[in-house]
Amino acid sequence: MTVSSAGRVRLSAPALARRAFAVSMAKAARGGIRQLGRGNGSAIPGLVALTIDPTALAGLVAEIRRGAVMVTGSNGKGTTCRMLAQVMAAAGLHPVLNQEGSNQRSGIAATMIAHSGPTGRLRRDAQAIGLFEVDEGSFPEIVRHVRRPRAVVCTNIFRDQLDRYFEPAYIKGLLERSVRTLPADTALILNADDPRVAFLASDLSNPRIYFGVEDTELGRSAADPTSDFPRCPRCDGELTYTCVYYAHLGHWACANCGLSRPEPDVSGSKIDLLGPRGSRLQVVMQASETVLGIPLPGLYNAYNALAAVAAARHCQLPDRSLQAIEQITAGSFRMERVHVAGHDVYLALAKNANGYTEVLRAVLGDRKPKRMLLGLNDFPGKQPDTSWIWDVDFDSLTGLVPAPVVCGNRAADLAVRLKYAGWLGADPDANVVVEPDPVRAFRAALAQTPAGQPMWVVSTQVVLWQVRRWLRQQGYVGAVWREQSGAPQWQA
Ligand SMILES: [Zn+2]
Repeated sequence: MTVSSAGRVRLSAPALARRAFAVSMAKAARGGIRQLGRGNGSAIPGLVALTIDPTALAGLVAEIRRGAVMVTGSNGKGTTCRMLAQVMAAAGLHPVLNQEGSNQRSGIAATMIAHSGPTGRLRRDAQAIGLFEVDEGSFPEIVRHVRRPRAVVCTNIFRDQLDRYFEPAYIKGLLERSVRTLPADTALILNADDPRVAFLASDLSNPRIYFGVEDTELGRSAADPTSDFPRCPRCDGELTYTCVYYAHLGHWACANCGLSRPEPDVSGSKIDLLGPRGSRLQVVMQASETVLGIPLPGLYNAYNALAAVAAARHCQLPDRSLQAIEQITAGSFRMERVHVAGHDVYLALAKNANGYTEVLRAVLGDRKPKRMLLGLNDFPGKQPDTSWIWDVDFDSLTGLVPAPVVCGNRAADLAVRLKYAGWLGADPDANVVVEPDPVRAFRAALAQTPAGQPMWVVSTQVVLWQVRRWLRQQGYVGAVWREQSGAPQWQA
């Protein structure tokens, strides 16, 4: 691949013709899918383009003038991307960002095609910067296309989708091998508090920028019951913690070899969690500090903000642009708010044990009772396993959700879990309502929510899609692909 003086990749005439054909066919496919109303057309156009021209993704990414940042990890990558996109936009850049959740190869290819013209080249834009949310399992494949990222952000590695990704050690190995294929100047932006992430491929000379939480008042005195604690990344010895924030994130050290959590370059020195409203985050960077109001709840969103700040610093974006994080709106299913029949309804995705726990803790952290619809769905053939609900910390939140309604095709399993967590009270009227059908369950939960009070829907994906589709049919929300503009998109 050769590059012209204007930063354009030189292509032979047949290669360019093939690329133009691939891009135009992909655009036609996207138009067709949208016209048919068959979803948002986020993956198929990418597949079409890559089938015709397997080099299309790498070629288009190479044309982004200011390079690309990749964000991966088990949880928080989509929100981190949207926060970073806000900061980039405030700094005058034009982030080329894939749609939240469309984070495999075809989704990223579709994003690049949306930013390309009919000639098969990326539209000329001196301010364009790539920002890719990358599924951790697809990371090795996508690294082969995004060959020289400016930075790779890794948020955390949790037990997630056991039936697809096996154990966290497997994902860690996958990321480690891929990081080794990166050029030496790609910065690694890593969560210091996650021992699985902090020393990823530690023998490499790539620049490392660490983010982490320093506010030990937020720590839990005992081990988090939701966690499976990792072993020392150097000697496989047992780790000890002076402070656990949640799951296995905290201030850790190895008693055997002395390896310990690295000092963060970007740290949350003081975090005030303000319940469902969000948090106030004091960020200390090398020579400066700032205070950010994060309008998304929970400590996990403070971590996402720290990751975004660390990446923004590496991209040399001015500190004043960091305030743009305060403008972040909830993405689809990330505490997305919908007004329904006099109630604020929040839709929150919880797809694994830690995600479910942290969403519940964020909403119920102020210990004030709230109305909830909880969902659990398996995905036959794809994600049949739901045994992880036994690792969710329902137990510490007993009594905070009066008469919860549970739904989804595994609603009965969830009800059993809640029973063992002590959520079923002596008062039969306050007991769990089991209604597998998500729409009927939603209406039942809303009907029993007192006038003017909010309701939270916390669930795996299928239930949320079904509820949201019904809300859209009723005219309460628009289509997801139109709404996912929380992060600016520069599409003609
Ligand atoms: Zn050790």
